[in-house]
Amino acid sequence: MPELPEVETIRRTLAPRVRGRTIREIQVLEERLLRNVEPEELAAVARDRRIGEPVRRGKYLVIPLEPGAEALLLHLRMTGRLLFGPPEEKHVSLLVQFADDGPPLRLVDTRKFAMLYLIPWSNGVAGVAGEAVAEAGRSPFSLPEGFARLGPEPLSDDWTVEGFWQRLEGRRQPIKSLLLNQEVVAGIGNIYADEALFRARIHPLTAAGEMSRDQAERLFAAVREVLAEAIAWGGTTFRDYQDAQGKRGEYVTQLRVYGREGEPCPECGTTIELLRIGGRSAHFCPRCQERAVREDGRGSGGGGGNNSGSTLVIGLTGGIASGKSTVLRLFREAGAETLDADEIVHRLEQPGEPVYEEIVAEFGREFVRPDGSLDRQALGRVIFADPRARERLNRIVHPRVIEKLQEEIAAARARGTPLVVVDVPLLFEVGFDRDVDRTVVVKVPAAVQLRRLMERDGLDETSARQRLEAQWPLAEKVRRADYVIDNSGTVDETRAQVWELVQRLKVEQTRV
Ligand SMILES: [Zn+2]
Repeated sequence: MPELPEVETIRRTLAPRVRGRTIREIQVLEERLLRNVEPEELAAVARDRRIGEPVRRGKYLVIPLEPGAEALLLHLRMTGRLLFGPPEEKHVSLLVQFADDGPPLRLVDTRKFAMLYLIPWSNGVAGVAGEAVAEAGRSPFSLPEGFARLGPEPLSDDWTVEGFWQRLEGRRQPIKSLLLNQEVVAGIGNIYADEALFRARIHPLTAAGEMSRDQAERLFAAVREVLAEAIAWGGTTFRDYQDAQGKRGEYVTQLRVYGREGEPCPECGTTIELLRIGGRSAHFCPRCQERAVREDGRGSGGGGGNNSGSTLVIGLTGGIASGKSTVLRLFREAGAETLDADEIVHRLEQPGEPVYEEIVAEFGREFVRPDGSLDRQALGRVIFADPRARERLNRIVHPRVIEKLQEEIAAARARGTPLVVVDVPLLFEVGFDRDVDRTVVVKVPAAVQLRRLMERDGLDETSARQRLEAQWPLAEKVRRADYVIDNSGTVDETRAQVWELVQRLKVEQTRV
């Protein structure tokens, strides 16, 4: 997945080739690419517009359309590439033809995870024109949730040691997870988080809030150094990443720990280790990055909890109808405290709650039943059939649910609860895997999942498939999970797996 240095390299190689050119036509060949606009609408808006200076923000690329108040916002995700030159027939998601008949721009995306938005954009600032456009009665071209909440750019003056230090305060999360949080600082992914932590000699599991000022300063500097060097090398290519000239990034030769598990540390020769934190891998040198709370650290005092740091938070997810609620109940039986995101959504959608009011304002009174409650089934039919409606609903609901879950987790940590299991259906999709210590995915065969879903919700096959497609494929979740529970057998078989896992977690917890 391209991170800041890769996207910045793409921007730099793309800019001279598109800047000032007029778009003759945009063709969308893969509709899944578009997140808040219809293909015809995008084509109409972009036709005859001149491309302004491309801008990078975090891992997003902004391509302004001039004159006017819109821009294309692109996130390349796993395998998206922007290429010019001889046409490639396969996997082209988007084709931009120019009025000058020069080489067209293609978005090639084998796994089709890339996302394109049309966003309000004016004078280099996103969102300013949004309300005006909405008032004019056209679709509001809303900003994606993740973009609107991006934190400071690490290579700009907006990011300061002081600001970073403040974001660390009171955070019990491992520093590795915090670095990946795009709201804390934009653009860092797994590669550069691992490299920066190595350079700053900080163990990835160090609780963010317990770092010393000295550690925070070292890490701040290391992040900037690593990113700047990686840009100078044209980014890192493991598989698909290429810049807009089709060149691969060479920083892979400079990586010191990332992808080097089992190899000797370039500083001390100790074997580089691999650890799973919140669904992601972390590469580190156990000697150079020794885990110790420094004497000058903020420590864990102040909260008054004598169990500080001893809470383990598990994020539980799986496919729809994979039997997650059964597994959650089994965790409760095994002594865990449990939280359920769906239950929180249900509470937030009660009449009078802000979320309820916003949904009614956005979708209309036809989704309100005579008793004043929200008609979730009717709303469900609309949002599962229409990805853009789903995006609108998610922008209202997700931030509130995430906030609530974070609050409840913090409260459980303050109480010193040993094990908390949080059931979050879109755990990976919304990035909540970074807020938990470990992830567990409940797995059942696809056919079983489809049948259970049709039976449970009384759906026909088409609707059931639509609901399954609204989430990531189960295989992708399994790949990211720290632990997998196979729920295709009897309840007793599942129970045995849950109990065994709880025992294992207890052992791991005492060791860390
Ligand atoms: Zn070392």
